[in-house]
Amino acid sequence: MEIKYDKNSIIKILKDNKIKVTPNRFKVAFELFNSNEHPSIDQLHQKLVKSNETQISFTSVYNIVKLFENAGLVKEILIENKIHYDSNITPHAHFICKNCGKVQDIELDKLNFIDEKKLISFKTFTEEELKDNKIDSVEITFYGICGECLKQENSEA
Ligand SMILES: [Zn+2]
Ligand SMILES: [Zn+2]
Repeated sequence: MEIKYDKNSIIKILKDNKIKVTPNRFKVAFELFNSNEHPSIDQLHQKLVKSNETQISFTSVYNIVKLFENAGLVKEILIENKIHYDSNITPHAHFICKNCGKVQDIELDKLNFIDEKKLISFKTFTEEELKDNKIDSVEITFYGICGECLKQENSEA
């Protein structure tokens, strides 16, 4: 796990969002904010139980993630109809591997065929059905086979 947020920056993020820092909240934040794996609550709970000596209940993890979500620190995303959490809250697209289920972030500005500003500003839509709606977020998901799985497939062939 690449540490993007150290102890002090996690505490600062929580405090800046008026979230009282408790040992459990810190643990969940540290794991989730430093993860780019888009875990479900269950996966996050499993990870925390494995990596910490103290116990934390599934319900605690759930409540803490919901608290972070309400503060706008994490975002819900659907992966194969299951709720997962994304700590990257800047607009971005996802690539989901149909083989291993890995989710990768793709920055929208790297998608040179999509103009993010045009997508978000509804005025540029010409479609009748979008005319009266205000768009405030965009979700773009690509499905396929990830590079790692492709490599493995090729070496097995
Ligand atoms: Zn894969
Ligand atoms: Zn993401």
